[in-house]
Amino acid sequence: MQQLTQNIYKITNDCNVYFLDFAKKIIIDTGRPTTAAFVAKELSPKINPKKIDIVIFTHFHYDHIGNFSLFPKAVFYASQAEIDACRKDPFGAILNEEVVEKFSAKVLSIEKIEQSILASLGLEVIATPGHTAGSICIYYPAEKILFSGDTLFAHSYGRVDLPTSVPKEIMRSLLRLKKVDYKILCSGHDY
Ligand SMILES: [Zn+2]
Repeated sequence: MQQLTQNIYKITNDCNVYFLDFAKKIIIDTGRPTTAAFVAKELSPKINPKKIDIVIFTHFHYDHIGNFSLFPKAVFYASQAEIDACRKDPFGAILNEEVVEKFSAKVLSIEKIEQSILASLGLEVIATPGHTAGSICIYYPAEKILFSGDTLFAHSYGRVDLPTSVPKEIMRSLLRLKKVDYKILCSGHDY
């Protein structure tokens, strides 16, 4: 686990998992389905996964939601658009049969992310459709950190040819992010 700031950590195993060691313990994206033991081990010096309060998904691709069951006590959030897309076309939204099956009950309890909820955590949500219909980015203004999921990478941006992609929205979303005053980009992958 890499420490990015005083209370923000990154776990890398192709798909990045971020741990925000705030008053509420927050995870942003949970990683690939085969990496649960690795993620738990990486978190273990700082926290038991069972003590995570909140999990935020930037979107529902399997490599971001894969280890949701590591966090049994957490309240889960995603955008309403992502939840709707997943209800309409679970495989298209998740892209992995096995995870679709495991996630089918879980998705019913995922709550719609609201700015009012994030504000109390010192975070902001930015809707960035394109890579998927309901992709979101999370901004932490206190330290100017942008968690960009698969919308924006350091040297590229996310694919927009996937089943729930909305290619015509990506430019608008990237322009929206260009206006965000971030110093550290925490993307979903280190591409
Ligand atoms: Zn993705």
